[in-house]
Amino acid sequence: MISVAIDGPSGAGKSTLAKYLAEKYRFIYIDTGAMYRAVGWWALSHGTDPKDEEGVKRLLPEIEMNITHDGAGVQRVSVCGTDVSEKIRTPEVSMAASDVSKIPAVRLKLVELQREIARQQNVVMDGRDIGTYVLPESNVKIFLTASPQERAQRRYQELLEKGVSTTYDEVLQDIIKRDKNDSSRAFAPLKKAEDAVELDTTGLSLQQACAALLETVSQKLGGE
Ligand code: C5P
Repeated sequence: MISVAIDGPSGAGKSTLAKYLAEKYRFIYIDTGAMYRAVGWWALSHGTDPKDEEGVKRLLPEIEMNITHDGAGVQRVSVCGTDVSEKIRTPEVSMAASDVSKIPAVRLKLVELQREIARQQNVVMDGRDIGTYVLPESNVKIFLTASPQERAQRRYQELLEKGVSTTYDEVLQDIIKRDKNDSSRAFAPLKKAEDAVELDTTGLSLQQACAALLETVSQKLGGE
């Protein structure tokens, strides 16, 4: 099986670029952030503080997560039969996801599911630890970055389009806080894999970023 790992901080454009790549190569796109969001959402909706490690661990065995794709290749996430794909996109769930992602038991459960999917299909998988921990044997590893200001601007625009009410400053603070959380956690932190190609998309249009990504990936996958 072929796998492409795309890691990087929040709002670097991972999901847009990973989807684009998956479509080009006809691979399955796996958004691992959605899985952490689903666990964060489950905790919030069960009145459990996402920072409460013991409380979240108690909930874990009952969380039955399913990842499917609709006809257009868009990933859907459901927990215990409830499709949560849209519900998990709020700023509150973003922070809850960041909190539960520090809990090793949560990571172990989700990493198992991620590896299982990659064993069965060719994937473009995006996250924070795909190249370093989940799929260290990936055929191509990309580390996608952009300045915090640019990432906040993009995320803010995205949230506005979805009708979520927030401000640019709120989104920027949220991104800075999540960056810190993601890079400083003890277990599988956000880090560029040694053999990853770094792609900084600051100042690039979507088209330019797609072209740069495609060039890197096609060079690496050339012979496969
Ligand atoms: O990518 P997204 O913003 O949807 O991820 C939500 C949160 O899930 C991130 O802030 C991060 O803390 C966590 N996450 C993670 N490992 C991954 C993917 C996401 O810790 N592979």
